[in-house]
Amino acid sequence: MVKVECESCGTEGSVDELLMCDSCGHAYHCYCLVPPLPDVPRRSWRCAKCIAKVRLSQFSFVYRFCFSLVLYLTVYFVLVNLL
Ligand SMILES: [Zn+2]
Ligand SMILES: [Zn+2]
Repeated sequence: MVKVECESCGTEGSVDELLMCDSCGHAYHCYCLVPPLPDVPRRSWRCAKCIAKVRLSQFSFVYRFCFSLVLYLTVYFVLVNLL
């Protein structure tokens, strides 16, 4: 049986017991997660670190979008005032 090491507690377990992150490939026990999962999810799963990374990139996308919008509006109003 293939053994993998839990990234959280460092204990080895079988692949059936541990959750493998779809993104970084790290393995975790269900009960080592915060919050703990009652069961191993059948569909693709990502660890908290990877979810945080995705949230961060989404946030920076929204931030960049807002920033360019503000910049565009500023330039627009400056031009309107000049003309
Ligand atoms: Zn563990
Ligand atoms: Zn991950």
